Amino acid sequence: MTDSALNSNRPERFDDEFDRLLQTISKLSENGDSETAWPAAAWEAIRQAGVLGWNVPLEFGGADLNPVEMTFGYIRLAEACLTTTFVLTQFNAACQRINWSQDQELKTRVFKELAAGEKFATVGISHLTTSRQHLSKPSVTAERVPAGWKLDGFVPWVTGAVHADYIVTGGVCEEGSQILALVQTDQEGVAPQPPIEMLSMTGSQTGAVKLNQVIVPDQCLIAGPVENVMKRPDGQGGARSLTTSALALGVAGRAIAKLGEEAAKRPDLLEIYQPFNTECEGICAEMFATLKAGTLNGGFSENIRGQSNSLVLRASQALLAAVKGAGFVKGHPAERAIREAMFFLVWSCPQPVVHANMKEFACVLD
Ligand SMILES: Cc1cc2nc3c(=O)[nH]c(=O)nc-3n(C[C@H](O)[C@H](O)[C@H](O)COP(=O)(O)OP(=O)(O)OC[C@H]3O[C@@H](n4cnc5c(N)ncnc54)[C@H](O)[C@@H]3O)c2cc1C
Repeated sequence: MTDSALNSNRPERFDDEFDRLLQTISKLSENGDSETAWPAAAWEAIRQAGVLGWNVPLEFGGADLNPVEMTFGYIRLAEACLTTTFVLTQFNAACQRINWSQDQELKTRVFKELAAGEKFATVGISHLTTSRQHLSKPSVTAERVPAGWKLDGFVPWVTGAVHADYIVTGGVCEEGSQILALVQTDQEGVAPQPPIEMLSMTGSQTGAVKLNQVIVPDQCLIAGPVENVMKRPDGQGGARSLTTSALALGVAGRAIAKLGEEAAKRPDLLEIYQPFNTECEGICAEMFATLKAGTLNGGFSENIRGQSNSLVLRASQALLAAVKGAGFVKGHPAERAIREAMFFLVWSCPQPVVHANMKEFACVLD
């Protein structure tokens, strides 16, 4: 990306220190094992830079970034390292839901640990929204018991589960309502499964978590029982936000920047690079204009997500085609970008967006 749309929206708090952080994590992501190993060094770097407080409210010692700041930060970080940034989004998703709790004491204690990086939190919520919705039996059941709530079942997707101290997760009650709770992983019955090997971002150490009759004390109930516990009246709930589009744009921006480096040596590539760059700029500009106008319905735009998905898929392939066989070798930025781009087809992707992407594959014109 030539950066003009992004840079003209650069919030003040993103100073030179942030640029140094980007360089650090970008460098770390070039290490041989960065694809498969947990990004511990990058996580430490973002901890030191205060990034872990981005989604923690001010009153609990965080920085409470506004949506423009958060989106800018996510695009830039994803450009530097998708795995670290993805882990951060799941950590931030946990912070967002912990803040739904009415329990000030719980929030004071937990947010202090999280913002300081002493503890790690993540989410296992897809079974309440997008994943396994076609099955008749809930993945995790919730039952009221004298000591609180009993959660039992299988949480299919939890990023960084084996590193987590807390998992924000939930279950479905007999009559169909849902609860959301903060589960401590050292509680009896919490069993993170070994991380799975994936098409990309294996280093996020994503895996399932078994909940074997885990008793969650009342204090750790975050929300519910209520229908669709992830939906909030203020539009802040659900898996839908601009976060996913921001990460897609970050990866697309990285691929386009590499294409630009190649085009600088091979002018015939300029006619490929320039339209990609213009498209990326356009989506970025639309994203920030929408955020600033406050017109995002429920914090999400299917249009922006569809465009970002399409761009990252096409730009990463164009990069491979441009760099030829060299880009086909394991570890080359082109092959990595292609694998990373695929993630956006499955991550919290609403059906109309996936459908639009598939229609593009099938060359179906509207
Ligand atoms: C790398 C990665 C990390 C993730 N991290 C997290 C995380 O930290 N926390 C979190 O909450 N979520 C996470 N997710 C989950 C993610 O957000 C989506 O919810 C998930 O990708 C949805 O895929 P699924 O296979 O679970 O979907 P499902 O809808 O359960 O589909 C699974 C299979 O079921 C079948 N199927 C689907 N729909 C139907 C139907 N209508 N009728 C019949 N059969 C059907 C298909 O064969 C399909 O392959 C992560 C996902 C990935 C890939």
